[in-house]
Amino acid sequence: MKKIIAVDGPAGAGKSTVSKICAARLGYTYIDTGAMYRAVALKVLQSGKNLDENLLKDIEIRLDAFGKVFLDGRDVTKEIRTPEVSRGASDVAKFGFVRKKLTELQRDMAKSGKVIMDGRDIGTQVLPNADLKIFLTASVDERARRRFEELKSKNFAADLEQIKKEITLRDKQDSEREIAPLAQAPDAILIDSTNMTIEEVVLEILRLAK
Ligand code: C5P
Repeated sequence: MKKIIAVDGPAGAGKSTVSKICAARLGYTYIDTGAMYRAVALKVLQSGKNLDENLLKDIEIRLDAFGKVFLDGRDVTKEIRTPEVSRGASDVAKFGFVRKKLTELQRDMAKSGKVIMDGRDIGTQVLPNADLKIFLTASVDERARRRFEELKSKNFAADLEQIKKEITLRDKQDSEREIAPLAQAPDAILIDSTNMTIEEVVLEILRLAK
């Protein structure tokens, strides 16, 4: 069984949904690196300060076994899922000192193995020696539709066209940034989930992990 699994891909491709299920079935730890960039963005937004190394010096980001996210000891699981924080996360993710700090934390979290980590640069930068690398994608229309349904189910106001615009912009920003852009690692396996169910994607990843 592959011990370290990296799942990268654009926004709304289903990375966290399928990674969480695969982790539960394998008895692995799921690490949502997007939540960590979101936590940094929330810290910047709430502090009213400029993002600099000082602000990150003693930042504490913790992901618990139940999918909760804690920023400086406070549960921010819900707060980090707003569109404002999504945009903010993509903005803070451009800075080398932010990426360096979070990459170090992420490598540390993966040290003991048996992890599934999802993000944008896991297979390319964070865990280049991962045993299995997946690049999960889907058409932009399908990804927008899924995000729309997800936001609606959480009682957030949602507008499909607006979500599509935001996803397209975020993907462009994430793919074009200079440091650790969103990219498929040469040894990653591409899964296009446009016409696949969650269960089909999960089974494919579990098959590859064997
Ligand atoms: O995955 P999620 O949509 O929560 O990620 C939020 C943002 O965090 C992304 O749009 C991206 O800019 C950034 N991110 C990143 N590298 C990662 C994970 C997320 O740059 N490994």
